[in-house]
Amino acid sequence: MKPFFFKLLILVLLIPVVHAKQSTLSPTQIQQVVNEAYARFKNDNEGKNADYIKALAKVNPKIFGIVIVDKNGHIYQAGDAKTEVSIQSVSKVFTAALVMSQRGSKFVQEKIGVNATGLPFNSIIAIELHNGSASNPFVNAGAIQTTSWVQAKNSKERWSKIIANMSAYAGRKLSVNQDIYISELSDNKRNQAIAKLLDAYKKMGSDPLEATTVYTKQCSVNINAKDLATMGATLANHGVNPLTKTRVIDAAYPSKIMAIMITAGLYDNAGDWLYKTGLPAKSGVGGGILAIVPGKMGIGVVSPPLDKYGNSVRAQKAITYIVEKLGLNPLKR
Ligand code: GLU
Repeated sequence: MKPFFFKLLILVLLIPVVHAKQSTLSPTQIQQVVNEAYARFKNDNEGKNADYIKALAKVNPKIFGIVIVDKNGHIYQAGDAKTEVSIQSVSKVFTAALVMSQRGSKFVQEKIGVNATGLPFNSIIAIELHNGSASNPFVNAGAIQTTSWVQAKNSKERWSKIIANMSAYAGRKLSVNQDIYISELSDNKRNQAIAKLLDAYKKMGSDPLEATTVYTKQCSVNINAKDLATMGATLANHGVNPLTKTRVIDAAYPSKIMAIMITAGLYDNAGDWLYKTGLPAKSGVGGGILAIVPGKMGIGVVSPPLDKYGNSVRAQKAITYIVEKLGLNPLKR
């Protein structure tokens, strides 16, 4: 072969290698963008703590933590990475995953649903409009219904399975925030009504008030940004927790769970979120958002002030910034 053609061949062979190298993010790059996101939004005061649960109004609105856990277990963090808030609706993801593990993905699709309601997370009218269906496991109706379908011989066992499952995703033993739990128990009449309505439609797997109490407890579990990132990274990593190396869910299910996150993760604003980031995510009124870059990482952000849909303002901004800067939108690949 002539030297010129030989050089050309080497060049052509090297193109994919160089390209692959460029598209791999370095740890320094990731940490730098996490720091930037923190600095950029640290003093952003937009939004307001949830107050329909009295104890949530008292949580420090300044809490702001950002953590990324990647599939290899590397951790990147800035701000209040270890400060705890209540998990609230983000818990719905993991109880749905538990029921999916126990009963299969078809059960979740057929019994609870996997479609958007287009209505607020605690809507009662949505149940009526959909002929008694909760529509999906991430609105309150579907989440209470999901909790009722956790296989257990009694309420105590239902609870211990739920908390053990969430702890396995987080890679540490999680516990309940008693102040939030007690406050939320006295403010959960609407959820009781939702559960009773679903019971009238014969959709509940256990007593509606018992399921509502267990659901309320599940929402009161304390988590921090690192927990959220680890829980997300476990789903991103096809069901294996990258920190504990334990398989938490069958590899067949994370894609199903992420599909529901895309449809209904950020309440009735899920479309706008997807349009901006392309990422499956779930928010909670405690101020946490968990976003997943499939096959790569989990991003957990905690900041209590919410927008009118119930989604943390700073968490949305920080994740959007990180996604843009690091080119993480899977729909752009
Ligand atoms: N425990 C809250 C409720 O049932 C969760 C709501 C949320 O985070 O969206 O209203």
